[in-house]
Amino acid sequence: MKTTHIEGRKKRAGPATRLLDEARFRKLFDTADAMSIQGYLPDGTVVYWNHASETIYGYTEAEALGASLYDLIIPDEIRDMVEAGVRWMFETGQNFPPGRLELKHKDGHLVPVYSSHTIVEIPGETPVLFCMDADMSHLAEAEAELRVAATAFESQQSMLITDATGVILRVNKAFTEATGYSAKEAVGRTPRILKSGRHTPEFYAEMWRRLVETGHWEGEIWDRRKNGEVYADWVNITAVCDEQGRVTHYVAAQTDISRHKEAEATITQLAFYDSLTRLPNRRLLLDRLQQAVAGSLRSDSVGALLFIDIDHFKTLNDTLGHDVGDLLLLQVAGRLEGSIRESDTAARLGGDEFVVMLEDLSNNRQEAATQAEIVGRKILTALNQVYTLREHEYTGSVSIGVALFSREASNVDELLKHADLAMYEAKAAGRNALRFFDPEMQAAVSLRAAIVSGLREGLRTQQFRLNYQPQVDGEGRVVGAEVLLRWDCPGRGLVSPAEFIPVAEETGLILPLGRWVLETACSRLAAWAARPETAHLTLAVNVSAAQFARADFVDEVLGVLASTGADPRRLKLELTESLLVDRVDEVIAKMSALKAQGVGFALDDFGTGYSSLSYLRRLPLDQLKIDQSFVRDLLVDANSATIARTIIALSQAMGLAVIAEGVETEAQQALLAGLGCHAYQGYLFGRPMPVEQLEASLAAQG
Ligand code: C2E
Ligand code: CA
Ligand code: CA
Repeated sequence: MKTTHIEGRKKRAGPATRLLDEARFRKLFDTADAMSIQGYLPDGTVVYWNHASETIYGYTEAEALGASLYDLIIPDEIRDMVEAGVRWMFETGQNFPPGRLELKHKDGHLVPVYSSHTIVEIPGETPVLFCMDADMSHLAEAEAELRVAATAFESQQSMLITDATGVILRVNKAFTEATGYSAKEAVGRTPRILKSGRHTPEFYAEMWRRLVETGHWEGEIWDRRKNGEVYADWVNITAVCDEQGRVTHYVAAQTDISRHKEAEATITQLAFYDSLTRLPNRRLLLDRLQQAVAGSLRSDSVGALLFIDIDHFKTLNDTLGHDVGDLLLLQVAGRLEGSIRESDTAARLGGDEFVVMLEDLSNNRQEAATQAEIVGRKILTALNQVYTLREHEYTGSVSIGVALFSREASNVDELLKHADLAMYEAKAAGRNALRFFDPEMQAAVSLRAAIVSGLREGLRTQQFRLNYQPQVDGEGRVVGAEVLLRWDCPGRGLVSPAEFIPVAEETGLILPLGRWVLETACSRLAAWAARPETAHLTLAVNVSAAQFARADFVDEVLGVLASTGADPRRLKLELTESLLVDRVDEVIAKMSALKAQGVGFALDDFGTGYSSLSYLRRLPLDQLKIDQSFVRDLLVDANSATIARTIIALSQAMGLAVIAEGVETEAQQALLAGLGCHAYQGYLFGRPMPVEQLEASLAAQG
């Protein structure tokens, strides 16, 4: 093409201007600084090499002229191809189409060029091949950058580009996937199509303020997909400016963080909420309590902590199974939430323990207590309603302890302990009750702690004694005794078992203690067996529920009998009704195993429990012990007399022996004898006494 062009000009200009033309073109060729122009003979010898060729390929004109094209700038890999092309051009006189090539620089590196070629034939002269190469190095770099940018743009991240006014110019595939809007739907509109409505106008205003001020904004945004679904996005917006610093575009990259959000929510759920009931757990409760206490410091208002414990939950769990227990807990949680205000907190501490925190009650402590009590009563009522647990109808009750908190409350753990304590008081008061914490409870707790450490010490240093209280027949003859534990505690004197037995039971200390009682009593029986005046006596030993419940209880008793050599038929174990209500079959099995060896059983405190006669019949009992409260009121309360009469009739019907305890007067004894009871225990016949004293009185009795 160029050939014709030049030749055309030559034709039009005519011979007169030929010299001028040649000089001008030569100059043009020589000085064209972005275009390397080289001339070659058919064998590749360089005949022309302009200045730009030196710039692009590194060889000076002097170095290049006379050298071979193939030695200078043609890389080995394409040498054959170029040679063939050059030969073809000289043979046919046609031009090879222009195109991109990578040629060799003097220092060895490859130079990307856009190369066009033309054969210039002047009649009578050897034709010359002119090559015109434009350096593409910078272009190639720019292209590479563009490729990188394009790849980046089509990355996993959803991206959009807007113009300075916020109109969308481009979006990528990830954007379409994330939002549901195709490029066609999005381009020409603004990012407002993604607005979820979850942010205030101030939020967007602040975002724009920062963008304008700093050229950048990033943060979390709730966006809405085309299908209406709202999702959380992490958005990063950058302003693109021109050389004058004017914003030309905005580029926004979004990362869908719904998954992170979900994970975050899961973690929060696991860490701060109870997995069964979905109520806040202990940690979250303490956290809120901390805040509430800090809050009440400011506002001066009083709050309340209600500690709620389900009565007899363990029994339910044991008899109906944990699944049913879980159902109850779920329903309790639901009812709790239904009984309080939105701003209050119901939490599950674990097991069957729940806590309700009431905030912002009155700032008058008395009024606040009343308010807390009203809520507490409401909860008691709500939780007292019948539960349907699968096929079971269950009526439960709860015990509630209340602790108020205000300015003085410094320690939240302490607060929780107070409420817990009050709850125990409620339980002790017969369950289904509500109690407020008061400082006396604190004193009781301190005493209890002292008893626990004292009991341990007492066991180690043998501070325990046994007293023996005679049991007599209708003629007043001693037939045996009940052994009653005494604690001779240094500094405290003789401590009543009524005070320390419950503590020993709670702490498990009853096990070593009970074993010691059993061993001591059996040793006595063995000693008595050797003497005619005592050989016939029986000993009654009290057994705690915790002792009896041990799997090895039977073995323990038999072991003690064997090691002491006591006659099992002289040993009578006193059980209480509360011990017998759970796991009746297990109880019967244990009793039967001991009974088979001759051990006897008396049912202590009879009449005060809630025995069901149907299972009482199944127990291998020997004796019922009329509780001393009925004996005490025998002469003053017709009810007590009726109960005593019923118990006696019952024992006769069931073929059991009966004994009355707490007999203090002859009138009581006479009345009991009239009703058919001919065995007694009580101050009238002897107080609990040291064994020496009992033995002395037996000797006197002869
Ligand atoms: P309990 O088994 O009902 O024992 C009878 C209690 O009534 C004894 O109180 C006894 O001293 C008292 N008592 C006896 N006769 C009369 C009377 O005529 N009038 C009055 N007002 N009271 C009378 P104690 O010794 O203080 O024992 C209290 C409870 O401690 C016992 O009640 C028993 O449940 C428990 N306990 C005592 N020793 C042991 C023991 O070795 N092991 C276990 N597990 N518990 C024991
Ligand atoms: Ca007893
Ligand atoms: Ca009793």
